[in-house]
Amino acid sequence: MKKDEARKWMRDLLLAAAALISAALLLGTYVRLQAAERMIGAQRSRIEELEARPLTVELVCEAAEESATADKPAWHDAGEFRIYHYCPCAYCCGKSDGITATGTLAAEGRTVAVDPDVIPLGSEVMINGVIYIAEDTGVTGKSIDLFVDSHAQAVAMGTYTTDVKWRESNG
Ligand SMILES: [Zn+2]
Repeated sequence: MKKDEARKWMRDLLLAAAALISAALLLGTYVRLQAAERMIGAQRSRIEELEARPLTVELVCEAAEESATADKPAWHDAGEFRIYHYCPCAYCCGKSDGITATGTLAAEGRTVAVDPDVIPLGSEVMINGVIYIAEDTGVTGKSIDLFVDSHAQAVAMGTYTTDVKWRESNG
């Protein structure tokens, strides 16, 4: 073998090896790019899914709020009332069975007595931020009697004047 031929052969071999290595590197890059693209695609559809979700939740909440306000009538501002307290004893009620004018069993924190000509029976009555039900009678005009469990409590809580709101109950 001549010296030149051997050199040429070596050069061809090196070139072929370089071409092979380049091809392998390119193939590797191509495969990695494909994988990255698939991952980006998956992430993108996940992002789109998440972007769509809060909007749905918001719409559901708005619909719920709308129906909540639409169901309840507006509060009537009834002005200042004299607030009294009573219990189911014979002294307070002339009887002691605890049955109200509307036939319910009186309950502290729920039952109030009103003048039905001022506040219709069955209405919700708001006194100092607490909502009661007008389910008993026995007072007249702008007075409200708050039901409490014991006579001692009724005496201790005394009377006061405060603003009252009421609204029709819808069940
Ligand atoms: Zn009493």
